Amino acid sequence: KKITIAIDGFSSTGKSTVAKQLAKKLAYVYVDSGAMYRAVTLYAMKQNFISNDYFDVENLILTLDTIKISFIYNAKLGFAEVYLNDVNVEHEIRTLQVSQLVSKVAEISEVRKKLVEQQQQMGLNKGVVMDGRDIGTVVFPNAELKLFMNASAEKRAQRRYDELTERGDIVTFEEILKNVKYRDHIDSTREDSPLIKAEDAVEFDNSNLTLEEQFEQIYKIVET
Ligand code: C5P
Repeated sequence: KKITIAIDGFSSTGKSTVAKQLAKKLAYVYVDSGAMYRAVTLYAMKQNFISNDYFDVENLILTLDTIKISFIYNAKLGFAEVYLNDVNVEHEIRTLQVSQLVSKVAEISEVRKKLVEQQQQMGLNKGVVMDGRDIGTVVFPNAELKLFMNASAEKRAQRRYDELTERGDIVTFEEILKNVKYRDHIDSTREDSPLIKAEDAVEFDNSNLTLEEQFEQIYKIVET
């Protein structure tokens, strides 16, 4: 019987890696909810609604209905890529600049309402692994399995730094660490759907685990 798996946690705790591994192993659909907040942020950046020192919340809210976010499976990659108004933005939404603005956008209740509705639609048929900040608490409070991932800020920043430099982005470790801590703070103190561990979520710290060890331990939880 197919279930719903909700994976939440702080920034760069390896949620998407675990979610992708699980989806592959179980032949489930993986949904990266953070990619949706990032896509809305990219849209706001392109419309000049947001920059480092400016945020036109009103106009973003007014144009929310014109933002279409979709996921299209890429067989070569083995997961679905995110599209913003039919343009593939999978690469563009991962820049440090988007990471620096996304938590501001994710604080807006109207944005959350729109995305949560779409996320719940995508979960109607079960067999879904979704990762984010509020999946076990708000999007799928009845999920059969909830994981809450954590790791030290330094480990998380190092992993994100490796990821970004590997794809050619010019960033420093210090600015990544700062961003990770900044998003942790905004995400867990915002009014609407703050990041908290669902009561029935299994907490998982992977600071000192390899990817293989981590998956082995998590898969054991899934099987029981
Ligand atoms: O998961 P990722 O780090 O890509 O998410 C980017 C940002 O989107 C988070 O820092 C958070 O502000 C927001 N987010 C959220 N709720 C989710 C997923 C992401 O608020 N379910």
